[in-house]
Amino acid sequence: MSAPLVGVLALQGDTREHLAALREAGAEAVTVRRRSELDAVDALVIPGGESTAMSHLLREFEMLEPLRARLAAGMPAYGSCAGMILLASEINDAGTPGREALPLGGIDMTVRRNAFGRQVDSFEGDLDFVGLDDPVHAVFIRAPWVERVGSEVEVLARAADHIVAVRQGAVLATSFHPEMTGDRRVHAMFVRLVESHLR
Ligand code: GLN
Repeated sequence: MSAPLVGVLALQGDTREHLAALREAGAEAVTVRRRSELDAVDALVIPGGESTAMSHLLREFEMLEPLRARLAAGMPAYGSCAGMILLASEINDAGTPGREALPLGGIDMTVRRNAFGRQVDSFEGDLDFVGLDDPVHAVFIRAPWVERVGSEVEVLARAADHIVAVRQGAVLATSFHPEMTGDRRVHAMFVRLVESHLR
């Protein structure tokens, strides 16, 4: 089977690191900025950055409803940090009305934006991660946490008792940024999810 084509939403945020991580994990990776590019990919990564800015740009570029529709139709996706926030079905502390982060509904969960950020701006730690043999070194930057998960959602990791990594079907989300460390295991897990979804 040829490598799956994975897009990285490139409206704002740390796009380059995800492109590199996906390629190292065995996928073909391209940037996605417009509707036609979204239509062409097998799966999508939503990077870290600022979820309110990304929401605004998704609306401006007329990508919000097409992206919601693809997720509703089962497109595999992975979101880190701001990407996790956007993949949620409900967002707490979403931001100023009119400029707020908008949920795309890829995972049945409630996420609190900037949850860890209220305590410390950024921190790092080693976390046990379901499906990986050794702990993952996790970098958190004004990170969200997950406050509620639906019955179809598997919790993959916790930090200080808060849920920080989840999966529902072929949609994965982490509060932290594996693209910023050299460790490609989370991206490799996602690429395997995409491949089994396409099979
Ligand atoms: N706090 C940011 C947001 O609300 C997320 C931070 C990040 O992606 N590193 O989108």
